[in-house]
Amino acid sequence: MQDIYDYVDQHAQSYIADLQRLLRQPSVAAQSVGMEACAGLVEEMLAGVGARPRQVDTRGGFPVVYGEIAGATTKTLSFYNHYDVQPADPLDLWESDPWAAEIRAGRLWARGCSDNKGNIAARIAAVDAYQRVRGQLPLSVKFIIEGEEEIGSPHLEHFAEDHPDLCRADACIWEFGGKDIDARPIVHLGLKGICYVELRVKGARMDQHSSIATSVPNPAWRLAWALASLKGPDERVLIPGFYDKVVPPTDEELVALERMPDTESQRLEHLGVPGFLLGLSGMELKKRDYFEPTCTISGIESGYTGEGSKTVLPSRAMAKVDMRLVLDQDPEEIFALLRAHLDAQGFDDIESILLGPERPARTPMSAPIARVVVDTYRELHGQEPVVTPTSAGSGPWYQLCSRFGIDACTAGVGHARSQAHAPNENIYVDDFIRGIKHICTIMDRFAAEPA
Ligand SMILES: [Zn+2]
Repeated sequence: MQDIYDYVDQHAQSYIADLQRLLRQPSVAAQSVGMEACAGLVEEMLAGVGARPRQVDTRGGFPVVYGEIAGATTKTLSFYNHYDVQPADPLDLWESDPWAAEIRAGRLWARGCSDNKGNIAARIAAVDAYQRVRGQLPLSVKFIIEGEEEIGSPHLEHFAEDHPDLCRADACIWEFGGKDIDARPIVHLGLKGICYVELRVKGARMDQHSSIATSVPNPAWRLAWALASLKGPDERVLIPGFYDKVVPPTDEELVALERMPDTESQRLEHLGVPGFLLGLSGMELKKRDYFEPTCTISGIESGYTGEGSKTVLPSRAMAKVDMRLVLDQDPEEIFALLRAHLDAQGFDDIESILLGPERPARTPMSAPIARVVVDTYRELHGQEPVVTPTSAGSGPWYQLCSRFGIDACTAGVGHARSQAHAPNENIYVDDFIRGIKHICTIMDRFAAEPA
């Protein structure tokens, strides 16, 4: 691979410039800012490497930019990415303009550099370098670059339903990836699912003087009681049936957990909390982090929350509840269980709205693509990668891969302090260059894997 690595090093400046150009084009799906221009730019970048790109309609959402290149075999590796990014606010906390893609102290600072444009650019650059040096890719590749990941991929299911032929692949490299808190490469083999719910309670027609709380219902109390019925202080979720479909870890997944390094003290220091929930540590903590679902109050709003006092009886209350799911919990089923529980508890007046459901997904640890990514990470970094059976995050892994029986795995250019979704998002320039080489090596090695 040295010939290709040399080419990547010789052309590093131009690959970095391509990434900067992509980062300087805002593309905030949540605010519909710059989306069309960014889809066009990604299309142009794919065209530049011969991927014959097109924009695929998603029935109501931003288009998927799709491209493919036939290589030496029909064996196919797909790359899933997204060209949308999170909003850059709060702007005053950025040390440089989030859309300027400035390079300082060996890092590139920009909204979307780690999540997820650094990976888009690295994968396109890898395909470019490989073809320029060897004339042809060792296998066929597909690029599936959607525009709605940061808003929950609401239309990607349509894309997968309408175009199973475009999704089909022998393996997929997932959108993100990178290094852990100790700069070790980390490989994720799955995602948690999510069931995100908004709860709304209405009381009187409008806010009232709190003196009438003697006889008029308070939606804030209704909401507080309903929320308290969801989980006990022992952290056990109380919705009947919630845990019924939870699949316990396999033996090989437990071995992977045991091999994971102990980062508890760094994590605690980073978090600024004295200890983990329930005093957990060691294997029990890892099992909980990777194989247990959650039920989290993500936000609550009601009544007066400004300075000083205002004696008011609120007329409405609202909470956002996010449940991270594990195999084989189905978000629609969990939502139905939640509704049944609220009704059974006498909270039929509380409205519930399901926002952005996503199913959990996991690739077996023995999958060929997992082995290839782990081996090549080890070779390139000179370090044993950390393999996690799943990531704590969520995404459309099931929609795009598991439902078609495609094994997927992460490999990317981020790091533990990349600040994705937050001010001062950054990646190391060296990681970007190494990430290009890594993708080249993955393509080469996966092509050679026996089918
Ligand atoms: Zn993101």
